[in-house]
This record gives sequence, structure tokens and C-alpha cells, in this order.
Amino acid sequence: MGLKIWLGDGLVDEKDAKISVFDHGLLYGDGVFEGIRVYDSRIFEFDAHIDRLFESAKVIRLIMPMDKRILMDATQKTVDANNLKEGYIRLIITRGVGSLGLNPFTCQKAQVIIIADKIQLYPEELYEKGMKVVSAVTMRNHPLTIPPQVKSLNYLNNILAKIEALDNNVPECIMYNHIGYVAEASGDNVFIVKQGTLYTPTTEAGALVGITRDVIIRLARKEGITVVEKDLTRFDLYTCDEFFLTGTAAEVIGIVDIDRRVIGNGEVGPVTKLLRKRFFEYARG
Ligand code: PMP
Repeated sequence: MGLKIWLGDGLVDEKDAKISVFDHGLLYGDGVFEGIRVYDSRIFEFDAHIDRLFESAKVIRLIMPMDKRILMDATQKTVDANNLKEGYIRLIITRGVGSLGLNPFTCQKAQVIIIADKIQLYPEELYEKGMKVVSAVTMRNHPLTIPPQVKSLNYLNNILAKIEALDNNVPECIMYNHIGYVAEASGDNVFIVKQGTLYTPTTEAGALVGITRDVIIRLARKEGITVVEKDLTRFDLYTCDEFFLTGTAAEVIGIVDIDRRVIGNGEVGPVTKLLRKRFFEYARG
């Protein structure tokens, strides 16, 4: 039996979860989305995800077809209908069905799609041994294009960077902004440790304001670790003691090599391990 998918105003069987070829989400990548985890039957950082979704919608002038409460209710119903105790929710709001042509105002009503399913992004071995990454030539969206803080359905910029990673036989890459500062990975935020201090690029450098990033900053401070948000360069990444990425799907994953510069002693570092541990304690209550 397939999944139950939320489509529009209610749940449908997976086989019936179909959208129009005239949906501007498909035609133009016109829409916004969230990826949210379910840990121990609880929707992780639910309010923060919903707030970010509504902010993304506001920036692209997409009128949400339901208010926050009703959308949260629909999300919970989708999780319950699929009996999901551990997994991933993909919450998608497209501009809806309109005519051919860019004009978003031909779309009468935004479409809501909610998928609640299992997820495993990386094998366990990669978390233990750490991951290798490369620097992408493809630059992160310039702040005067679609603001990088908007989680839009248009990920081509990051997809081009991801292709660079895969061409280099590594799963992820680091993206830089128009000035050359570290922005983020193609689907995750960046952290480094240098002499016991935790550094992460400011979100103004061109990163999505990651929900996992926020949680890690809070947990690190609780451990007494100094956290500094600042512009980071390729040099900072090459010479750091520890390096890790955070994201809803990836959680906390150590990086042990970038552009063939080994990080630290080539193993996942102690601060990374500690924060990964604290993250799960927090997520699972
Ligand atoms: N940056 C990008 C481009 C992302 O798509 C994501 C989400 N996968 C992140 C960062 C991490 O954000 P979050 O912790 O909210 O998942």
C-alpha cells in the first residue's frame, strides 16, 4: 500500500496524488517548501519551519492558501495517516495552476502538497568516517537575485553545484558567494572549529537560515563553546581543526577533506561528535 499524501484540502492515495502540468511550481519552479524531521513521533522544530515557510512565501509574494494553524494541522494529519514515527516531511506550496507565461497572478490558488515518508540521506559509515567535499565553481545566489534565505522550489543554482560534487566523486560541495566568502553547502550549512571556537558563516553571506544550524548554535553555547558568526574564506576551511555540515536530512556530518586538504587528523573531530550527540539527545527529548 502506498503513502497517504496531502493534496490541496485533504489526504489522497499516493497513486492519486497528481498535479496539473500547468502548475507554476512545475513550469517555473515557482513555489516554496520545507523539509522537516519527525523524531520519536514528534515534528522537530515545527514552529520554526512553518515560520520560515511563511517568510519564504511572503518574499516571493505567494499568498498562502491556509493559515499557520491549519497548515500545521494538515501536516500532523499527514504524519498520523502514514503512522510515521521516524522520518521526513516535505511540505510544498506551489503557486498553483495558471496559464503559460511567467505571470504568477494568473494562478488562482496556491497548491499544498505534504509528503511524510522515510528518509536516509547518507550511510552510517559516512557519519563515522567523515565526508569529503570540494569547492564548487557555481556561486551561491547573489542577494539581488532570489534572496538565498528563501527556500524556493528553484534549486537549480544548488543543483549545478551538486553536479560538480558528484563529478568529483564526493557527495557534497561548498558554495561561495559573489565576494568569495563561504556561503553554505549545496543543501546544508557550514561550521568549522578553530582552536576550540565554533565558526559559521553569517546568513548574510548567502546561506539559508538553517533550522539545524540554529539548534546547533544553541546547543554549542549551552556546552560553553564560543560560537562566532563571521565571513569565512577558503583559507579558513583549509586550515581549520574540525569541519561539519548541518541540515534537516544530513543532521550533523563531519567533513574530513576539502579540495584534497585533510582536515585535522583526517577523522571526525571531538566537537563535531559531541554536538552530533547533543543534537540527538535534544531531538529525541
Ligand atoms: N542550505 C540549503 C540550501 C538547504 O537546502 C538546507 C536544507 N536542506 C539547509 C541549508 C539546511 O537547513 P535546515 O537545517 O533548515 O534543513
